[in-house]
Amino acid sequence: MIDLKSMSLPEMEEYLRQLGEPRFRAGQVFEWIQSRRAVSFDGMTNLSKGLREKLGSECYIEDLTILTVQESKIDGTRKYLFGLRDGNCVESVFMRYHHGNSVCISTQVGCRMGCRFCASTVDGLERNLTAGEMLDQVMRIEADTGERVSNVVLMGSGEPMDNYDNVLRFLKLISDGKGMNLSQRNLTVSTCGIVPGILKLAEEKLQITLALSLHAADDETRQQLMPVAKRYSIREVLDACSTYFEKTGRRVSYEYSLVAGVNDTEEEAAKLIRLLKGRKGHVNLIPVNPVVERSFRESAPAEVLRFKNQLEKNGINVTIRREMGRDIDGACGQLRRRYRNRTE
Ligand code: SAH
Repeated sequence: MIDLKSMSLPEMEEYLRQLGEPRFRAGQVFEWIQSRRAVSFDGMTNLSKGLREKLGSECYIEDLTILTVQESKIDGTRKYLFGLRDGNCVESVFMRYHHGNSVCISTQVGCRMGCRFCASTVDGLERNLTAGEMLDQVMRIEADTGERVSNVVLMGSGEPMDNYDNVLRFLKLISDGKGMNLSQRNLTVSTCGIVPGILKLAEEKLQITLALSLHAADDETRQQLMPVAKRYSIREVLDACSTYFEKTGRRVSYEYSLVAGVNDTEEEAAKLIRLLKGRKGHVNLIPVNPVVERSFRESAPAEVLRFKNQLEKNGINVTIRREMGRDIDGACGQLRRRYRNRTE
């Protein structure tokens, strides 16, 4: 079956041309799916019955099932577990901020990067998500909440650079003026630091934000937390981020999850300052969210504040990320694991 939600307009033109349809037909179908969010062909009233039947027999429109929704009593954050057509499931998070609603989506089922503090990677990678499956996480959440989403972050389960082509396709589709029309400036791709992926993305000339999961200021500590750090040194990764900034003019955010006693010391902060001094960017601190499968503990609030102040005093742009949805397994991969463990 052909996956229409993942198709760009030119691809749809080509497909419909093969079916003997005029060119404008593709625009109509694209709009039905990407803008009017149709999930079946029946309602596509400006298409002939014959074409609707033909499409119905050859194609499908991605339409995720909501398996569970949990809402945080603290901040109203909603965490969704979506069922995919092959029986797999992925999670997404809906957050309300004063600047608008934000959705955090997954890019893969599972992950093979192996970060030591992360729940998504415990069972490795199951498969990549299609662009349509990424888009539909946002569409379903808008439909379920009845609210517009203005920001999308690719910070759920999975490594976006490990599913590069589908992620790029998603970024183009969601920012398409004839589709959901989200501003590229409100899209963030987070990576554990796959250098060739960062350099490739820099060449796409998109206006999206790149977030680098740094989590340590020296290679040895970073390697303890993130196996990918054995492949690419901090120096190489930060150089790639500089290239990203030069090519796109977009400042990079550096994610730093604080793990008690591992990367939250005064010494680590001093190293981080040396590393980032003079770079155009922004550090997001977040105490690591403890995951049952992992032994790491989060830094105490006072330590987080001390770390932040040390950076700030030395001229580094830094914010402590508000922790959203702590009471609902807010961290990547936690909900999916709980659900699977319960159903197995
Ligand atoms: N693979 C990508 C995107 C998904 S993870 C990446 O590595 O950036 C999104 C962010 O959440 C990353 O910064 C990741 O390191 C962080 N993260 C994962 N598990 C976490 C946990 N238990 N506590 C805090 N941050 C976590």
